[in-house]
Amino acid sequence: KTDVRLVFLGAGGVGKSALIHRFLQDTFDPKHRRTVEEIHRKEYEVGEVKVTINIIDTSGSYSFPAMRKLSIQNGDAFALVYAVDDPDSLEAVKRLRDEILEFKEDKHPPIVVIGNKIDRHSEREVSSRDVLAMVELDWDHIFVESSAKDNINVLEAFMELLQQTDLP
Ligand code: GDP
Ligand code: MG
Repeated sequence: KTDVRLVFLGAGGVGKSALIHRFLQDTFDPKHRRTVEEIHRKEYEVGEVKVTINIIDTSGSYSFPAMRKLSIQNGDAFALVYAVDDPDSLEAVKRLRDEILEFKEDKHPPIVVIGNKIDRHSEREVSSRDVLAMVELDWDHIFVESSAKDNINVLEAFMELLQQTDLP
């Protein structure tokens, strides 16, 4: 396959758009703009083969559930993003994972759980240890903690996602 769709899901404000912009443009914007749904494309060549990565930046809002269902059904790999200063956003990740399992035929869809905003040390309310155990032991997905602001583990998170697709 030479065309993959990476779908970013998570509550509003956790940093989905910020992670995507850090990956694509290496920039960070401190302002929050509400995303409805945006698709970004990145193309590269492996030898003679042209490869396209489509990154789907979804709305964290639940006002478009039909759109989310479509995004999930068409997705090849999923980034489930929460913010380490927001325990509710981790609950949203659990619900979104259930939706992926429900909407995808695949019994073990490629998922990377991303705990973002680790630069906010003193505001942290979600410990890495608990989430690591849940994500890697109970769920058997990959867990990465990141900061789009300080550019920590952003590339790593995308590499983990891409490695779970069958791109060349
Ligand atoms: P989205 O709704 O998930 O797309 O969230 P955004 O990417 O729009 O980010 C929401 C807010 O959090 C914005 O004000 C961002 O600048 C901020 N933000 C995003 N990532 C980080 C991060 O890693 N650290 C900090 N401190 N703020 C972040
Ligand atoms: Mg957004």
